[in-house]
Amino acid sequence: MMLDKIDELLKEISNLTAKNAEDIERLRLKYLSKKGEITGLMAEFRNVAVDQKKTVGMKLNELKQLATYKLEELRNTISTGQTKCEAFDLTRTPYPIKLGTRHPLTIVRNQIIDIFQRMGFALAEGPEIDDDLHVFTKLNFAPDHPARDMQDTFFIETHSDDVTKNVILRSHTSNDQSRIMERRQPPIRVICPGRVYRNEAISARAHCFFHQLEGLYIDKKVSFTDLKQVLLTFARELFGSETQIRLRPSYFPFTEPSAEMDISCHICGGEGCGFCKHTGWVEILGCGMVDPNVLEACGIDSNIYSGYAFGLGIERITNLKYHVADLRLFSENDVRFLQEFESAY
Ligand SMILES: [Zn+2]
Repeated sequence: MMLDKIDELLKEISNLTAKNAEDIERLRLKYLSKKGEITGLMAEFRNVAVDQKKTVGMKLNELKQLATYKLEELRNTISTGQTKCEAFDLTRTPYPIKLGTRHPLTIVRNQIIDIFQRMGFALAEGPEIDDDLHVFTKLNFAPDHPARDMQDTFFIETHSDDVTKNVILRSHTSNDQSRIMERRQPPIRVICPGRVYRNEAISARAHCFFHQLEGLYIDKKVSFTDLKQVLLTFARELFGSETQIRLRPSYFPFTEPSAEMDISCHICGGEGCGFCKHTGWVEILGCGMVDPNVLEACGIDSNIYSGYAFGLGIERITNLKYHVADLRLFSENDVRFLQEFESAY
């Protein structure tokens, strides 16, 4: 008799619904208040026959727990005024998150990479810590070249018996080139951006580390004309279609002939101003035809193949574009400096 009543209530309570707080209060009074049905059953429990007490007691507990749980559930639903999945308001304005900016060197590096990639150059990267063999020897540096001196390069490990085994922080990204030539045969058309290190006193105009980007193209019948045209295209893409270039003879151990390239001053348009020291030209990179000694040292037949290489400083180009007066600003991580590049892309 009592078990039937409990079963009936279990079923009834499982299906309860409520539209508002009044409904819930009404249900609480009906089942769980002092005069409620479940409380009534609890009171009657003392009259249950001893042999049934265990079964009825367990059922009664189950009923009370269900009623308590069910009312709590209905209360939660009503208090948010919504069902569970509607509780997330996707139209709410998010907390404002301050967006950072790209570092100016990254902006300019990406622009340069983009220009050369459109001309068919692949991207390559090499180690910042390398041996003398790949940083200097294979690139035709004479044994007594000043770049190999303690004054100019950071040494990690020295071998007085064989200097080519010295381990150093690379002083240029050209070690990428010797490693690429060693690994594969032409045609090779790559650009290698990366950080380089020099043993320099830090000042507004010099730092112990900076960034370079070098390019290398090796194939059959590559000429100086090819080099000049690629660099002209690059300069016009980066500094504007009116930009002029000029090549001045120079010397680098790994190229022959070698040249330094100037662009027409993009501030005065070549008329002459303080920025270009009234010459109308500003220097932007070094370049030349890869020295046959370098090709041979890296396992490429210089009778069949020829190539050109060029290298530029990313800080230098960034300075030309954005006129950063002090090189140290690039690595001091002052957000006020970085915020000035918010509108750059
Ligand atoms: Zn100028």
